[in-house]
Amino acid sequence: MHKEGTNIGVLALQGGFAPHIHMLQSLGYRPREVRYAYELDLCHGLILPGGESTTIYIQAQRMNLLEPLLRFAKRAPLFGTCAGAILMAKLGILDVNVERNAYGRQIASFCEPISFQKHCFSALFIRAPIIRELGSTVEVLATHQGMPVCVQQGHHLAATFHPELTEDGTIHRYWLEQIKQNQEA
Ligand code: GLN
Repeated sequence: MHKEGTNIGVLALQGGFAPHIHMLQSLGYRPREVRYAYELDLCHGLILPGGESTTIYIQAQRMNLLEPLLRFAKRAPLFGTCAGAILMAKLGILDVNVERNAYGRQIASFCEPISFQKHCFSALFIRAPIIRELGSTVEVLATHQGMPVCVQQGHHLAATFHPELTEDGTIHRYWLEQIKQNQEA
């Protein structure tokens, strides 16, 4: 049913979960929208989408999802984009300090080329945060103007931009590879 038996969840409490679903479908997966804790038990990896991180946090709290998310993060890879990355930092899943809306208001959103593993593509930043500090075990995978915009810590990945809103599946594919390795470990 799912590509190579891998079940991917996308947290669907608020924000841009649909484009992640479409991206995963285009890569041959049949992702599941996740709203309840029991659904996490069925997943091998979870995407935390962009949106409004405070709203997603409050919704997750209301749904009693915070503890289950922390437990899930211990056993399986998370991928947070923009608000999702902010949420990962807030929950202590990712050892970084982020400044929200660090480029300014919505109108200061932009699309610029970045390179990721020698692959160059356009990255879309929408009211994006800036990662100001990194823990010693956080690896920088991509930068923009000298600032980290895509980082990895253990099996978790976070991007301050929106790879799900462009056609290029490189970063999703990279994360899906982490899941495969996690399943095999
Ligand atoms: N500005 C939003 C926040 O702080 C994030 C924006 C996004 O996810 N594109 O939560």
